[in-house]
Amino acid sequence: MGGRNSETEDLEVCFRSLMVLGSRGRMEGSAVVMEGWKDLPMELLLRILSLLHDDRTVIVACSVCKGWRVALCLGLTSLSLSWCKNNMNNLVQSLVPKFARLQVLSLRQNFRLQLEDSAVETVSKYCHELRDLDLSRCRKLSDYSLLALAHGCPFLIRLNLSGCSGLSDSTLEYLVRCCKNLKYLNLCGCVKASDRALQAISYNCNGLQILNLGWCEGVSDNGVTSLAAGCPDLRSLDLCGCILITDESVIALANGCPRLRSLGLYYCQNITDRAMYSLANSRVNSKPCQVKKGDQSGLVNLNISQCTALTPPAVQAVCNSFPELHTCPERHSLIISGCLSLTSVHCACAIQANRTSRTALESHAY
Ligand SMILES: [Zn+2]
Repeated sequence: MGGRNSETEDLEVCFRSLMVLGSRGRMEGSAVVMEGWKDLPMELLLRILSLLHDDRTVIVACSVCKGWRVALCLGLTSLSLSWCKNNMNNLVQSLVPKFARLQVLSLRQNFRLQLEDSAVETVSKYCHELRDLDLSRCRKLSDYSLLALAHGCPFLIRLNLSGCSGLSDSTLEYLVRCCKNLKYLNLCGCVKASDRALQAISYNCNGLQILNLGWCEGVSDNGVTSLAAGCPDLRSLDLCGCILITDESVIALANGCPRLRSLGLYYCQNITDRAMYSLANSRVNSKPCQVKKGDQSGLVNLNISQCTALTPPAVQAVCNSFPELHTCPERHSLIISGCLSLTSVHCACAIQANRTSRTALESHAY
């Protein structure tokens, strides 16, 4: 017990010295009256609690007393519960109503499937300021979650729905009609998403910059072409496993999206050399004067692995047009694995290394 008393005394000393530093307390007459360390002024408490960077500690701190909970609720704008191995659904439903000012929330399922529509409905009901929501791998979610988000969180800028395979095309369409500010959308593994959702995205989310459509096998050229027309600011698009798309999609992107930096075409086996030449000669490769100051120009990532119809001259043309594309192991930003015919394609580093070694040999010879 002695130990505990001395701890309390230490706290009292700390508290008194903090008060000397002059924060606003409860005034009685002209004197500041403090009854104990739990009565820390709100500003000071907010500053102390803002130092908590571990979300588990935040939740423990919430249960210390009402004052701490109120302070946390006032100050907390970012929270991740993806560390939660059990009862995530209940935790969200009990905590989130108190954190109405959340802007960033991660509910990614790292361990097992826990999150259900009821939790997302609670988020949508209380967190109207949400900007960034990660629901990746939440495979139990259905269209009810999306409908709730569409109504409750219209200011979303980033939304990760990767692996949410139960979501329908028509509800995705409804969501983007309500959340027009989206700049980042991850639909990788939303297998029901098709051209209808893409057309709605292109119509409503003109500021979209990053889109992942991996394994959305219903997506075809119609969807990608309308995307290229409606989202000219697109910087990154992953179409891996979109088996229906052909050169038409790549040509539309090459012409419509001058800021495209990253393109994933893994396993798009209908892609031919025509698509590569369109990229090599496209607006994506626009001269610096056509691109806003500060913007990097040209492709920096291209995944064409398993695009087995491609030939070395076409891929080399792309590599030559975009010096940031590398086949060398150190940088590896032009990914050609699985294309045995493309082993002769080399990035600028290999050509430079070859030239250096040849010069060395020549100078040695004389
Ligand atoms: Zn290289």
